[in-house]
Amino acid sequence: MNMPLSQQAGYYCDVCDCTLKDSASYLDHINGKWHNRALGMTMRVEKSTVDQVSAGSCLWQHLCSSTSRTAVADAGYAREAR
Ligand SMILES: [Zn+2]
Repeated sequence: MNMPLSQQAGYYCDVCDCTLKDSASYLDHINGKWHNRALGMTMRVEKSTVDQVSAGSCLWQHLCSSTSRTAVADAGYAREAR
């Protein structure tokens, strides 16, 4: 397996699976034709992924709301008090 590009230094574009050296080239890239074409392509592919993600965040929210807020707050408070 190849080393993922995301592990290289710089700005990583998830959509195109490429890394840009700096913020300027990254901005250039995300405004560029190549990226937007890739973005359009991924949009279609991502449909199932989006469903998965929203299901995941739903579960996450459910977990969050079912977790006692005071317990979380207490834990943070106790850590802070030390
Ligand atoms: Zn891109």
